Amino acid sequence: MAPDGKVAAVPEPAPVERQPVDAVFTMLGSGRRGLTAAEAATRLAEHGRNELPRTRGRPLLLRFAAQFTDLMAVVLQVAAVITFLAYLLGTPPDIGNLQLAIAIVAVVVLNAAIGFGQEYMAERTAEALQAMVPHRCRVVRDGERIEVPAVELVVGDLVALEAGDAVSADCRLVDAHDLKVNNMALTGESDPVGRSADPVGAQVPKLEARNLAWMGTTVTDGVGKAVVTAVGAATEFGGIFRLTEQTSSDRSPLQKQVALMAKRVAAAAFSLGALLFFVRLPAGDPLVKTFVFSLGVMVALVPEGLPATLSVTLAVGVRRMARRQALIKKLLAVETLGSTTVICTDKTGTLTKAEMTAQVVWADGHAHAITGVGYAPDGTVEDPEPVRDLLRVAALCCDARLLPPSGQEGWRVLGDTTEGALLVAAVKAGIDLDAEQALAPRVGEFPFDSVRKLMTTLHRYDGRIRAYVKGAPQEVLARCAGLEDLDRKQILTANDDLARSALRVLAVAVRTVGSEQAGQLEAENDLTFLGLVGMLDPPRPEVVTAVESCHRAGIRIVMVTGDYALTAEAIARRVGILRPPGHPKTISGEELDRTDDAGLRAVLAGPDDLLFARVKPEHKMRVVAAFAGLGEVVAVTGDGANDAPALKRADIGISMGRSGTDVAREASVMVLLDDSFASIATAVELGRSVYQNIRKFLIYLFSHNIGELVPILVATLAGFPLVPLTAVQILAIDLGSDVLPALALGSEPPERGVMDQPPRRRDQHLFSGAVVRRFLFLGSVQAIGVTTLFFWHLHGAGVGFHAFTPDNRVYREAITMTQAGIVCSQFFNGFTVRSDRLSIFQIGVLSNPRLVVAEGAGVAIMCAISYVPPLQTIFHTAPLALSDWVLLAAVGALVLVADETRKAVLRYGDRRKEFSG
Ligand code: ATP
Repeated sequence: MAPDGKVAAVPEPAPVERQPVDAVFTMLGSGRRGLTAAEAATRLAEHGRNELPRTRGRPLLLRFAAQFTDLMAVVLQVAAVITFLAYLLGTPPDIGNLQLAIAIVAVVVLNAAIGFGQEYMAERTAEALQAMVPHRCRVVRDGERIEVPAVELVVGDLVALEAGDAVSADCRLVDAHDLKVNNMALTGESDPVGRSADPVGAQVPKLEARNLAWMGTTVTDGVGKAVVTAVGAATEFGGIFRLTEQTSSDRSPLQKQVALMAKRVAAAAFSLGALLFFVRLPAGDPLVKTFVFSLGVMVALVPEGLPATLSVTLAVGVRRMARRQALIKKLLAVETLGSTTVICTDKTGTLTKAEMTAQVVWADGHAHAITGVGYAPDGTVEDPEPVRDLLRVAALCCDARLLPPSGQEGWRVLGDTTEGALLVAAVKAGIDLDAEQALAPRVGEFPFDSVRKLMTTLHRYDGRIRAYVKGAPQEVLARCAGLEDLDRKQILTANDDLARSALRVLAVAVRTVGSEQAGQLEAENDLTFLGLVGMLDPPRPEVVTAVESCHRAGIRIVMVTGDYALTAEAIARRVGILRPPGHPKTISGEELDRTDDAGLRAVLAGPDDLLFARVKPEHKMRVVAAFAGLGEVVAVTGDGANDAPALKRADIGISMGRSGTDVAREASVMVLLDDSFASIATAVELGRSVYQNIRKFLIYLFSHNIGELVPILVATLAGFPLVPLTAVQILAIDLGSDVLPALALGSEPPERGVMDQPPRRRDQHLFSGAVVRRFLFLGSVQAIGVTTLFFWHLHGAGVGFHAFTPDNRVYREAITMTQAGIVCSQFFNGFTVRSDRLSIFQIGVLSNPRLVVAEGAGVAIMCAISYVPPLQTIFHTAPLALSDWVLLAAVGALVLVADETRKAVLRYGDRRKEFSG
């Protein structure tokens, strides 16, 4: 009890950042061996997953309402009000005006529903796709380093951090070697800041404590360990994070082009409506009637369904690509992919399987073969005694772990596969890894990075501190002392021999240093060379065909690798990137440093097959930028944290779903779920087909607009007092019978030969001359047929134009014929637009079953409009006779016949060109 009689408050423990590491462990019920699996499971069940609550965003109703404020929707609503007033004020009220008003309202509501559905679906798709990229992290549990999904992290977990990792929860560092993090997501500050494990003083604000790492930030350099202090919503990031902000709803250039086109067409429709108004007014028609008629034409010609069809087509493309292992994060990538002209690819894991097996160990002029394949340590090292120490040092200088078979899985490697191969080789030489680790505990490390191409660990061994170094042979040799020139030459020759047979080679060296605190300069100089290890990383079998198809498609493939030139060249030959008898131009990172940008562009513009070897990430960036400067559309792969700038600079940055770092995945627009180059080729093919499909439905939709417009114009000019097609009928075509076929065209499978053409030019507009000519041609044929049908039917009645009233049976039959004429023409049009050159009989009439069903549905809708009495009332239609349908089919088929003739002439021209060429 305190002297004043009050109960003394239990002092709050100081926050984790001010406590020493051991106290932090005690506070969080953890330790250097991490949590036990059982404790982690209990904490997970008690406190929940490491997830951020989904913010609810704007209420759905509000989002739906927002659709009605779109410019086009507002114009339509004004039109509906005017038409409705015309109905109210008319004496007697014209029921047709009421119908039109209702139809326009229906269009507005339908459009809003489609737009809202699109937006909602796009959001959900983005979320679902994001969930497909597994976000995992490495933790220590029961003293073992394992990988767990980031959502399963709990407070007290000991996580391992290294360059390229996203920090998955708020944590307090307990170990840090050259560790730097980028706090951009939290503080907006993009410069990496150093971290340490030391406690901070009481005056340091929490966000500035250098021993804390926050969820949502990324590790840019170094390695470290940290204990989790907060997960999910309890993290700093949780407080400010809104999930909806992550799903980008950016519209792609293609969507913008189409939206702009839709607006232009709408503007043209309104001008035309106004023109018709002034043409018909002097003809003595009542003002209101003429006004409503013109309004109907305007509304009808507005391409309502177009943006929605485009969104669906792009979404289908994204889903198809995801099914083929290529995850697209931005719609933009779908269309850019199709015009890719250069792919800069790295080697390990993308072209190869990243399943390393050490095959040779070389020391003192002798090569010792290693038998066995894969990670099972079944095999032997030939005459192991002279190389045992070399393999022991190599294995101890590794972060990877060899995992024995469990469940369905055989021997596995956790971590870098290059290191996995070294561990397996050591076991094959009879080395007991656990015993050696106990004999020579690690007391310090300088992690691998792709700039130094080295990794060093410090060990206490035999009472001394030893530095174990492994890395690229040239780099290691350059740091070795006591080697005669002759020895160096012999080592380099051995290295080249191994590399020529496609082996990745690592050199191993050692030295004794003064203390555990030895700096990198000391640990990585004056080394004693031990030997070389050559390991095979077999090419992925599927890559050979993918490379071939890219070459056929006019896409240049350039390997940009950190590996040695000879190894890279050998692999490039095996997968077909270098074609015999080509003389590849191999450019090293050092040569690149000596070449200025203009020189580099000159090399890239040359005809040679190119290969960049021993390059650093910043070189990759230069290559990408130089290609872009030449106007190429560049796709580039990257997996490391410092590949991020190149990934961002490229038109298509591609990261790896399995092996890459979180930072690379964040910077890319496409993630390869299986890491394979073959998936890039597939994505390019699908990207090209999406573009082709968009062209197809644009041609399809715009041709019927001509079929709708021309009869109206002809009737007006010919002085016919009524319309050959009412606005309500046109809406039934635009939003009824034509919607499904357009969608089916948007989801056509890739056309045969889509990879046999050169890439599309980046600046090629969607509404190119070819597209416009094609829909003008198809639309004109349709228009001639439909206009003829209408007047031919009227002609059958044998009376003058002015004898027709809106309720006249022949007139109602005639307008039904016009509508059915367009539907039948579109039936055939749908088949013919499937290819620019190939006959539908070459492609196969039934090869897109969805289209066949959609076309059938279009005709069924038309039949319903013609025969079902309530629909007859709404649409002012009449039942058609069988003979009418025969005529309609013949007129519809005209489109097919005309286009097949055009295609045959084109193919004939192609053959002649081929023959004479
Ligand atoms: P790519 O860029 O095509 O994936 P890569 O994997 O060979 O090629 P890096 O990872 O940058 O490129 O490796 C460059 C070089 O560094 C390798 O050729 C090898 O000699 C050396 N190296 C790779 N991994 C390690 C490691 N864990 N420890 C030490 N040295 C390594």
